[in-house]
Amino acid sequence: MLQTSRTKLTRRAALASLPALVAVALLAAPRPSRAQPQRLPVVATFSILADLVRNVGGDAVEVTSLVPPGGDAHVYSPTPADARKLSEAKVVFVNGLLLEGWMERLIASSGARAPVIVTTKGITPIELREGRKDAPLGPDPHAWQDIGNARVYVANIRDALAAADPARAATYQSNAANYLARLNALEGEVKAAIAGLPADRRRIITSHDAFGYFGKAYGFSFIAPQGVSTEAEASAKDVARIIRQIKTERIPAVFLENVTDPRLIKRIAAETGARIGGAIYSDALSDDKGPASTYIEMIRHNITQLTAALAN
Ligand SMILES: [Zn+2]
Repeated sequence: MLQTSRTKLTRRAALASLPALVAVALLAAPRPSRAQPQRLPVVATFSILADLVRNVGGDAVEVTSLVPPGGDAHVYSPTPADARKLSEAKVVFVNGLLLEGWMERLIASSGARAPVIVTTKGITPIELREGRKDAPLGPDPHAWQDIGNARVYVANIRDALAAADPARAATYQSNAANYLARLNALEGEVKAAIAGLPADRRRIITSHDAFGYFGKAYGFSFIAPQGVSTEAEASAKDVARIIRQIKTERIPAVFLENVTDPRLIKRIAAETGARIGGAIYSDALSDDKGPASTYIEMIRHNITQLTAALAN
């Protein structure tokens, strides 16, 4: 009996002191100071776009990429955590041009009310596959592979962040101006690097057709058995056609991609004797330790791989 009532007393004492403990905890908790306002939570659908948003947003935004580095944005399966991130975001950045077929349903199911910004707005899309009956028609989504288009993405991101967070509009303007200057320098590097490559060596095989914009901007032709989305497998007919083409046109190199299965390209290399020119980054960045953890690093890495394989 005595034991029980003493336990009760102890428990009551503990309960009585609880409000004081809570008050102490609240006092000790770090509070956001006026010098460091809260970061604006925003979402981008894939890692390349997230990096562009990070460069424009700087310390003022907290960017989440739905598809992680190395992931395939064509065929992503969203998670419940993705829906939660969307519902918390103040701005949602998408590529558009039919890249993220899974996104519309995710936005609807998440109940997100943030503006959805199509960052390719204003870019003239490459329309696909005229003359190929078996391939899907529609815009080529890989617009980011042309640095000129990346400048349009950056302007769209800047305007959307300034509209969502007008108090820091000047920050977004100045970050975007700095980053645009870096993109201009990058484009100069690319042009200098490829200047010495003869036109007849600027032909490249990749597994999926992700480099149409890059090719158009910088004078390369890319041929891919898999078409513009990784959703469809390459047909035996397409693979046979490409093997014939490599042999007759003496195409010097084939390239692996970071987001696709390497087996098809390895088979094509084995059957044609074309050199495997390393891995290039098409639809996703590498993780922090990899050679392409930012957009600028990705373009540099790709151009180094391409020029090394095609130089002689
Ligand atoms: Zn792709």
